[in-house]
Amino acid sequence: MILYDVICSNDHVFEAWFADSGAFGEQREKGDIACPICGDTDVGKALMAPSISAKKERSAAQATEAAEAVKVLYKMREHIEEHCDYVGDKFAEEARKIHHEEVEKRDIYGEATAEEAARLRDEGIEFGEMPWPIRHDA
Ligand SMILES: [Zn+2]
Repeated sequence: MILYDVICSNDHVFEAWFADSGAFGEQREKGDIACPICGDTDVGKALMAPSISAKKERSAAQATEAAEAVKVLYKMREHIEEHCDYVGDKFAEEARKIHHEEVEKRDIYGEATAEEAARLRDEGIEFGEMPWPIRHDA
């Protein structure tokens, strides 16, 4: 079984289990993978797990798939940069303030250490994590 982060055309990310990497494509073709938030079946993989792809020989199809996944990440990144406040490494601090309504509620993004992320989760503060693609054109 493989766990994938799946993203719909409305930028909702959710996790789903698949029998193998081929099952994802088959189920997507059939429209069997629907976003739990909006029901959209126009979904893509948000992330190719490197541990899985590294073991296999890289076919052209897989390379395309990986490129698609990176494109999706760029799209998400643009969306986040456009709609959320960047708080840098103060993410945990800011997320906590927002959670406790000490500041006005707003969408933020930034960096947090694994330790900070674990603590936020313990405190029941909701946040999303994403692998940030490195900009090659920067
Ligand atoms: Zn959705």
